[in-house]
Amino acid sequence: MNTVYDVIIIGGGPAGLSAGLYASRARLSTLLIEKGIFGGQIANAELVENYPGFPDGISGFELGELMHQQATKYGLETVAAEVIGVELGERGKVVKTSEGQYMAKAVIIAGGAGPNRLGVAGEEEFVGKGVSYCATCDGPLFKEQEVAVVGGGDSAVEEGILLTRFASKVFLIHRRNQLRASKLLQERAFANPKIEFLWDTVVEEILGHDLVKGLKLRNVITGERSTLEVSGVFIYVGLHPSTDYLRGLLPLDEEGRITTDERMQTEIPGIFAAGDVRRNSPRQAITAAGDGATAALSAEKFVNEQ
Ligand code: NAP
Repeated sequence: MNTVYDVIIIGGGPAGLSAGLYASRARLSTLLIEKGIFGGQIANAELVENYPGFPDGISGFELGELMHQQATKYGLETVAAEVIGVELGERGKVVKTSEGQYMAKAVIIAGGAGPNRLGVAGEEEFVGKGVSYCATCDGPLFKEQEVAVVGGGDSAVEEGILLTRFASKVFLIHRRNQLRASKLLQERAFANPKIEFLWDTVVEEILGHDLVKGLKLRNVITGERSTLEVSGVFIYVGLHPSTDYLRGLLPLDEEGRITTDERMQTEIPGIFAAGDVRRNSPRQAITAAGDGATAALSAEKFVNEQ
């Protein structure tokens, strides 16, 4: 661990890759650490329609790849590893990973967020056997079958629409009688004859034997219980920030998010945060990219002032 980078970026989604682009163009020696594929959550999106510059939309996977290519073109180094901790050392900030330790003058935390679990019986048991958190990945396995989607946000509605390409029917189960998703997605879902909405309904249990066979449901208004036969259930009940490894270093809110100022500066000088890990983030790819650029500019200023 002799190298002391100017900047280490944790996470290779839109926030991290935009930070990488700006930091490497500022000629800062920069290492980006990503444990999975580039693009973060957006890499799972079949079609991204609200990232400016792509009037016909672009596959999320391709967008992530293009962001990666663009950032590395200017000298960004990347490493595949999982970050397990960040410590403040005498010579700089130490980032501990599954592949060893790295050191930098400044750190940008841009690890994004992962899907929440629903937390009902059967969920853990049937992951990969009918329970999924990624319609783009697993949707084609459910050709001409009936499936359910749980949630009422953009993810649930967008992925529910996607699933109608494969499934014969999609039940969209929402705990209220109004969707949270954007109006455009709502319009598309309401116009889709393969989607049936089950309002004011929660899943109490995922049923099956080896594979998912159905769901035990409860109407939250009437209390009535029922069983719905489906062979797959796609869960989109929000996201939690990937910040567990920061406990004890930075104060996190009740949902695990990091507070920053408008320059993406956290409570610790030289540690910045960008994208979905940030409190009050609008959680959009484009706002994450903006956060990443801002964080890199702030990191550049910090490094130059050292
Ligand atoms: P979200 O906006 O937080 O929505 C989560 C949904 O799950 C809500 O409808 C919520 O119900 C429901 N829910 C939460 N906990 C639940 C539980 N325990 N049981 C049953 N239902 C539960 O999450 P998201 O849809 O994953 O979106 C995350 C962010 O990514 C958002 O900012 C979204 O705009 C963005 N996103 C954007 C796009 C796009 O622009 N195309 C696509 C995907 C995601 P309530 O409504 O009652 O709270």
